[in-house]
Amino acid sequence: MTTECGMSAQIADDTSILNQCVVLEKDGHVHVEENILNVNEMEMGSVLLSIMFGEVCGTDVHLRHGRLNTVVYPIIPGHVAVGTVHTVRGDIADVDGMKVEAGDVVTFLDVIDTCNSCIQCLVDKQTTRCSKRRVIGITCKADHTSIRGLLGGWTTYLYLPPNTKIIRLPRTLPPQVFIAGGCGLPTALHAVDRANIHIMDRVIIQGSGPVGLLAALLAQASGALQVVVIGAPAHRLEVFKKFGFEHTINILDISDPVERRKLAMKMMGDKLADVVIEATGRPEAVSEGMELCRDGGTYVVVGQYTDNGSVSINPHFLINRKHITIKGSWGSDFSHFYRGVQFMDKNSHLPWDLVVSKCFDLEDAEQAIACVERLEVFKVLLRPTKNK
Ligand SMILES: [Zn+2]
Ligand SMILES: [Zn+2]
Repeated sequence: MTTECGMSAQIADDTSILNQCVVLEKDGHVHVEENILNVNEMEMGSVLLSIMFGEVCGTDVHLRHGRLNTVVYPIIPGHVAVGTVHTVRGDIADVDGMKVEAGDVVTFLDVIDTCNSCIQCLVDKQTTRCSKRRVIGITCKADHTSIRGLLGGWTTYLYLPPNTKIIRLPRTLPPQVFIAGGCGLPTALHAVDRANIHIMDRVIIQGSGPVGLLAALLAQASGALQVVVIGAPAHRLEVFKKFGFEHTINILDISDPVERRKLAMKMMGDKLADVVIEATGRPEAVSEGMELCRDGGTYVVVGQYTDNGSVSINPHFLINRKHITIKGSWGSDFSHFYRGVQFMDKNSHLPWDLVVSKCFDLEDAEQAIACVERLEVFKVLLRPTKNK
């Protein structure tokens, strides 16, 4: 690393930037790198963002433990981030046709390179399963020594390659509110779309993390009569209560799934749920979730993002005779993200500050991941020192 003085001398030229970023290696090693990078190396159609906040989510814990098999390390983690446009190379417009300019506060869809040419994209219409797609902060191999390699949000400057889908934050939506929704927002919105909630449906959310909270809010916005949340630990359920969800069940207090089902039914007027959304990451939650559905109900599984093992179910009682619809929900596309930003703008009055438990420096990324892994916090962010 160059000395501080050496750097100041070298970055006097305005085409050079001093960048600091977090690099995650395949063996789980996390280190912070500083480099001076050349803005002239940006491709036509690309954007350089000066990052305000990069989110730390459960996926980053999985990435650290190498639990996603499509990742080519090293990476710069951080798939959801918000920042100010520093440099735009060429003419770029957002989806509303507005020119993207330096100083704009924007976010971006982390999924890039969806091909619109493969069988999944064109015929099956399952673009979130396109085999060509890459995800900034997850499956994009990073190179911290090149401006084009800054492909993750845990950085001072993030490089958005040509064709990255950029969304300008409405002026009424503060960046810290948007990022409190963060990654859970499009994920939950996709799951709630899949759930096809009807007016006055009874909905159970399994899981009390960020995706669970957003799913609960979106279920409510979709017209649910009642939303019951099953999760843990208690401090997370307290956040749900502050958002107005009175009916919560702590799995640490009530460890028997049968007792939990009885209590959930009691809360819902002696009825099972019309819709259950799983956002736990725990395979055993799936059989319980199917039990919680009424006959003919809908069950959406969104929390099993990594392979945490199998679970046995009784197909006679839980599927065939129960007549339920089971749906998976994988990733998100631009429509989920775009509508998610609008949802946050419309709901910016909610107590989002309770969602972000802590804001760490890039140097403390390892500690930030550990806090998320231990479920000590609801959500944490990384904030580059330069942009504080
Ligand atoms: Zn494709
Ligand atoms: Zn995420």
